[in-house]
Amino acid sequence: MRLSVSAVKKINMGNVTIIGGGIIGLCSAYYLQKEGYSITVIDRNDITDGCSFGNMGYMSPSHFIPLASPGIIAEGIKHMLSSSSPFYIKPRLNLDLLQWGYHFWKSSNAKTVLKNAPHLNNILQLSRHLMNDMRKEIGDDFEMEEIGCLMMCKQQQTLDHEFHMADDAEKFGLNVQRLNRQQVQELEPDVELNVSGAVLFKDDCHFHPGKLMLLLKKYFDKKGVQFQLNTTVTGFEKNNNSIAAVITDKGKFDAGNIVLAGGSWLPELTKMMGIHLLLQPGKGYSYTYPFVEKNIKYPAILVDGRCAITPWSNKLRIGGTMELSGINNKVLVNRMKGIYDSAKDFYPGLKIDFPPAEKIWTGLRPVSPDGLPYIGKVSELNNVIIAGGHAMLGISQGTGTGKLVTEIISGRKTSVDISSFKVDRF
Ligand SMILES: Cc1cc2nc3c(=O)[nH]c(=O)nc-3n(C[C@H](O)[C@H](O)[C@H](O)COP(=O)(O)OP(=O)(O)OC[C@H]3O[C@@H](n4cnc5c(N)ncnc54)[C@H](O)[C@@H]3O)c2cc1C
Repeated sequence: MRLSVSAVKKINMGNVTIIGGGIIGLCSAYYLQKEGYSITVIDRNDITDGCSFGNMGYMSPSHFIPLASPGIIAEGIKHMLSSSSPFYIKPRLNLDLLQWGYHFWKSSNAKTVLKNAPHLNNILQLSRHLMNDMRKEIGDDFEMEEIGCLMMCKQQQTLDHEFHMADDAEKFGLNVQRLNRQQVQELEPDVELNVSGAVLFKDDCHFHPGKLMLLLKKYFDKKGVQFQLNTTVTGFEKNNNSIAAVITDKGKFDAGNIVLAGGSWLPELTKMMGIHLLLQPGKGYSYTYPFVEKNIKYPAILVDGRCAITPWSNKLRIGGTMELSGINNKVLVNRMKGIYDSAKDFYPGLKIDFPPAEKIWTGLRPVSPDGLPYIGKVSELNNVIIAGGHAMLGISQGTGTGKLVTEIISGRKTSVDISSFKVDRF
């Protein structure tokens, strides 16, 4: 609801302003509108592209190990010198990056992972569960398939490690299937594979993320959710310990409750409120082949190839890399080359050409230092909630995050314990 400057006085808590129309903002809007809140989503773009569109489309309860985990730093350093590597940090003197790196390093140990994994597992399983309900309500038009996801391994050593991970997954109640080379090939009869084996995580599902986003937007248009698009938030007007108004390049908006769901731009947004948040944008790349005649059937993470591949009938997306080089959308073609080469190496029978450089997609994952999201109220301001920092798992945690945001705003007990997602934990 746009207001004149003088009208911005009293905060209406029945209104919620969501800043950011990515998967987290839209899932928050979904659950909030169901409870009768009046919603305005503000986004600087028109919600037709961005990180929530060009990703691999996995909902992965299998990913209960946070990104910050033992061995990841050594692995990262090993890859850093190659221009086609799946991991890169642009060396630069930036205090936020140094602080982020310090907390990432501090979190990358077995003790912290053991503490954090159950919390990540809770929100992943909650989200997966909720997705089936959402699908029933918004319709089936986003190519969701519940056939699981393969963790595909080339080296025997990698496969042994994945089998070990499968044991841990079973302890969290997940359904897994350990497959040798021949059994994986039987799942993909049309395309020759070159792997040692795989683990099939059967609870995972996949869908076309861009289609889900557009479907949600269409659903909201019928439900009266307001969108203020092509509008950039530039500041906030404070009133004691709350935010009274959101200032944008198109005018000032009544705040109500505010959900900050700005993805990789969260630190920029919180800074406007005087709050420091540790988060780095992690650039990834993807390319979508519009038609592959003999396509694969299963989505797969190519574990020792460090990239991923997703089919939607005859369409195919390949993607990956994690490039910590700040906010930018520069395409380094060699990184895509690394992804393409891995895909061809694992699937020699796949007839795909290297993508045209101008069609390569990039997106910025919002990466917190410990691999857990930020979900919760800001202690200094009583009407602001942060929801973000889901890194490689924003699609996987979207529905759960939206539900939790709604429960926090309504003052109810949350569906899962959110103490590990505190926004001021660093
Ligand atoms: C290659 C790749 C593959 C991936 N694959 C998967 C996957 O298979 N499964 C999975 O779970 N996750 C995956 N991810 C991660 C997932 O895409 C992200 O975690 C998720 O999209 C983040 O969603 P978000 O809503 O937090 O942020 P975003 O989608 O980035 O949305 C934030 C929005 O805020 C808006 N905004 C920011 N600042 C302002 C401002 N000042 N004013 C107005 N608007 C503003 C932006 O315009 C943007 O639209 C992948 C990511 C990449 C890059």
